[in-house]
Amino acid sequence: MDAASFEALNAETLGPRLGGLEALRARLGDDPSAWRVREVGDGNLNLVFIVDGDKGSVIVKQALPYVRLVGESWPLPLKRSFFEYHTLARQAARAPGQVPEIFHFDEQQALIVMEFLSPHVILRRALIDGRMLPRIADDLALFMARTLFRGSDLSMQTRERKADLALFADNVELCDITENLVFSDPYFDAEMNSHTSPQLDGLVAQLRADRDLKVAAQRMKHIFAARAETLVHGDLHTGSIMVTETDTRVIDPEFAYYGPMAFDVGMLFANFWMSYFSQSGHEQEGNRDAMRAYLLDVQERCWNGFVAEFSRLWRTERNGILYQKSLFEEQGDHLGAEQALGEVLREIWVDLLGFAGIEIHRRILGLAHNADFETIEDPDMRAQCEAKALKFGRQIAVNRAHLNGMKEANALAALIE
Ligand code: ADP
Ligand code: MG
Ligand code: MG
Ligand code: MG
Repeated sequence: MDAASFEALNAETLGPRLGGLEALRARLGDDPSAWRVREVGDGNLNLVFIVDGDKGSVIVKQALPYVRLVGESWPLPLKRSFFEYHTLARQAARAPGQVPEIFHFDEQQALIVMEFLSPHVILRRALIDGRMLPRIADDLALFMARTLFRGSDLSMQTRERKADLALFADNVELCDITENLVFSDPYFDAEMNSHTSPQLDGLVAQLRADRDLKVAAQRMKHIFAARAETLVHGDLHTGSIMVTETDTRVIDPEFAYYGPMAFDVGMLFANFWMSYFSQSGHEQEGNRDAMRAYLLDVQERCWNGFVAEFSRLWRTERNGILYQKSLFEEQGDHLGAEQALGEVLREIWVDLLGFAGIEIHRRILGLAHNADFETIEDPDMRAQCEAKALKFGRQIAVNRAHLNGMKEANALAALIE
């Protein structure tokens, strides 16, 4: 990529600069001077514009050569846009209808023009508002099972699979962010960390002195860095999901790389559990008992749905280099194929608990906090919610091999004091 020719867009230059593109004119109208441009501005890393024309609207997302949240002192390569684009293309094929449609990609300018999702809202926001979305459990189960299965050696042809492994291996800097911010920084006094203080100081000291927890976190980091199993989204939290009552879409896969099956699933479930623990900070307009019950039900339905779809794909689309049917079904050994499936699912379950526990910790102790807790204004109340989440995270990360199923994990969440 030629960094010299890169120029960040703004609301004034977007029309003149992109006005010649047929992909935009077809959707917005032929007169760029009539386009209205607004910056969305709630992401951490990139520029996102909503462009409205007489005929319709599109989103223009552009990477910057640095982290938007922090500024130019933290450089970050433009190529993350390339990985986002290529991941969206693969996800569209593997999980049809679950990502925004892509209209245009410009590698030089690190920009993606895509479908404007409307009236969708960010799932995290909806959960903070106490909305019970009816479709998320089933839709996200399908999204994860399909993208994770179909991006792996269970499904892909080996040449294409290895080419993708090589392609995404270059997403080094975004992996590096996760490796440090998620798996290491929360467990020592790293410079960019913050937590609700002084309320959580004692618990934070305890967690940082917790040998079993640090070993668990580093074990999960080891798996994150070394196990190139499938093309993961890499940032699948509730801020990367946009919803209506009837539709669920996954956005923002710039952290995609070849990693472990369990990473996306663990990160998503961590975010549902954090929503669960944050609910008592959002009870100004009535208690959130029903919301809490809804969130635990979402976890259970989403995990069951994931297992069901992954198992269906295992039985019908297992055409890659692993667990070949010639060794099992074609010899009449259906039980062997089911036994292997059970082992693979068991490993995903154990690992996802590890990833979930660590993700919960980093959102409360690290650099990037989430609005579920941050919007609780009273620091004592916020700390109470965060403390429960931290203890739960510790428990599921350290005891991940001993929790049998989502009912047990949810029962633990409900018991945390
Ligand atoms: P970042 O990588 O900086 O986090 P995101 O891709 O998450 O950027 O986008 C930031 C925000 O822009 C989202 O939270 C959402 O509000 C809005 N947004 C992004 N993509 C779309 C889309 N396709 N349709 C509607 N809004 C979108
Ligand atoms: Mg985002
Ligand atoms: Mg965002
Ligand atoms: Mg992003």
